[in-house]
Amino acid sequence: MLSRIAANTPFLRSITATAATTSRALSFDLTDTQKEIQSAALKFSKEVLASNAAAHDASGEFPWEIIKQAHSLGLMNTQIPEKYGGPGMTTLETALIVEALAYGCSGLQLAIMGPSLAIAPVYIAGNEEQKKKYLGWLASEPVIASYCVTEPGAGSDVNGVKTKAEKKGDEFVINGSKAWITGGGHAKWFFVLARTDSDPKTPAGKAFTAFVVDGDTPGITRGKKEKMMGQRCSDTRTITFEDVRVSAKNVLGAPGAGFKVAMSAFDMTRPGVAAGALGLAWRALDESARYALERKAFGTQIANHQAVQFMLADMAVNLELARLVTYRAANDVDMKVRSSYFASIAKCFAADMANQAAANAVQIFGGNGFCAEYPVEKLMRDAKIYQIYEGTSQIQRVVISRMLLGHFQQNGTSRL
Ligand SMILES: Cc1cc2nc3c(=O)[nH]c(=O)nc-3n(C[C@H](O)[C@H](O)[C@H](O)COP(=O)(O)OP(=O)(O)OC[C@H]3O[C@@H](n4cnc5c(N)ncnc54)[C@H](O)[C@@H]3O)c2cc1C
Repeated sequence: MLSRIAANTPFLRSITATAATTSRALSFDLTDTQKEIQSAALKFSKEVLASNAAAHDASGEFPWEIIKQAHSLGLMNTQIPEKYGGPGMTTLETALIVEALAYGCSGLQLAIMGPSLAIAPVYIAGNEEQKKKYLGWLASEPVIASYCVTEPGAGSDVNGVKTKAEKKGDEFVINGSKAWITGGGHAKWFFVLARTDSDPKTPAGKAFTAFVVDGDTPGITRGKKEKMMGQRCSDTRTITFEDVRVSAKNVLGAPGAGFKVAMSAFDMTRPGVAAGALGLAWRALDESARYALERKAFGTQIANHQAVQFMLADMAVNLELARLVTYRAANDVDMKVRSSYFASIAKCFAADMANQAAANAVQIFGGNGFCAEYPVEKLMRDAKIYQIYEGTSQIQRVVISRMLLGHFQQNGTSRL
C-alpha cells in the first residue's frame, strides 16, 4: 500500500526504499523460548495452582509449599538478573508467567509473585552491594519481600505519606505505619518510603527517601492478617515502624529522591498486574465456554442462544485487546522505552476487562455462578482488587490523561 502511494511521491519513495532494506514485519508471534516459558508456567498453574485454589481461598493459608515449588522451577522473582542468581527473564516473559499462573489462581499467583513490587525499586535504584544482598537473597531462597508505601491515611495520594525518617549520625530512625502490605507477615526485607523533609512545602520529588529495611530490625511490628474479599491466601497486613534504626547504607538512590524511586517501580510492575487480570479473564472465558456447551435451556445448549454467544464474544474481544496492550507495555520496559503511559493503559483496561469478564462468567453460570461450588464466584471476588492495588483505575486514568494532554500541548497530537 505504502509503495503504491509512494510511487508518485519522491519523499515517500525514499522512505520505502530505506524500509525495504531495514524493516521487518510487525510480529505478534511469541518466540519459541517465550512459548516454552508460557507452556511450563501454564502446566504448573493447571496442575498445582488450580487444584489448590479453592482450599487456599477457604483457609486463607499462605501457600509455602507452592511457593517453594514455584521457586525451584524458576517461576518466582523471574526478573532478577542472572548475575544476582535470578532467572534473568524479561518483563514480557514475566508477564506471560503471571498470566499463566493467574489462570490457575490469581491469589496463589500474587503470593508467589508479590515480591516483584519490592524488587523493582531495588533493581532500578539500588547500588551493586544492595542488589547483591537483597536481590541475591530472593534468588537463592523462596523468601518474601514487601513494598511499603501506602498508609492508613495515604493511598492514592502518596505525597500524603506521614512515616518519617530522621537522620541521626550514620543512621536513619523510621517511625510510622504502613497499610495493606502484600506479603507483610512473611517479608524478610521491606522497601519503605518515608518523609525525610518535614517542611510540608517541599515538593514530593525532594521530600521523601527510599530505604530497604531488614525484616528482623528491632521496632518492626506486623499487624494481623487482613480478611479480604478475594485473593485471600495472599498475606496483607499493617506494618508499624517504631524507632527503627537503619544504616544510611540502606538508602536506595539519593536521599530525598525516594518518591521517584517508589513511583518508577510501577512502570515495571503495572504490566505484571495487567497480566494477572488477563489470566483471570482467560480462565473466566474458558469456564464460560465449557459451561455454555454443557448446560441446556429451552431444549438446546445455552451456547446456542445468541445472548450467551454475545457475552462470550465480548469477553474474547476485550481479553485480546487487553493482551495486546499488556504485552506492548511489558515489551516497552524491555526496550527501555519510557512506559508509564502504556503501563497505565494496560493496567486500567485489563483490570476493568477482568471484572466484566468475571461478571459475565457468573451470569452465564446462572444460579450456579453465585455459588461457591463453582469456580466463577471466586473469579468475581478475586477480580475486584485489580481496580484497586498498584494505583486505582481512577489514578490510572489520571496518569493517562495527564500524559496525553502534556504530549498534545508539546506536539499538537495526543498520540504518544
Ligand atoms: C489487597 C491489597 C494489597 C495491597 N498491597 C499493597 C502493597 O503491597 N504495598 C503498598 O504500598 N500498598 C498496597 N496496597 C494499597 C493500595 O495500593 C491502595 O489501597 C490504593 O492505592 C488506593 O489507596 P486507598 O486505599 O488509600 O484509597 P484512596 O486513595 O483513599 O481512594 C479512595 C477512592 O478515591 C479515588 N480517588 C482518590 N484520589 C483520586 C483522584 N485524584 N482522582 C480520582 N479519584 C481519586 C480512588 O480511585 C478510590 O476510588 C494494597 C491494597 C490492597 C487492598
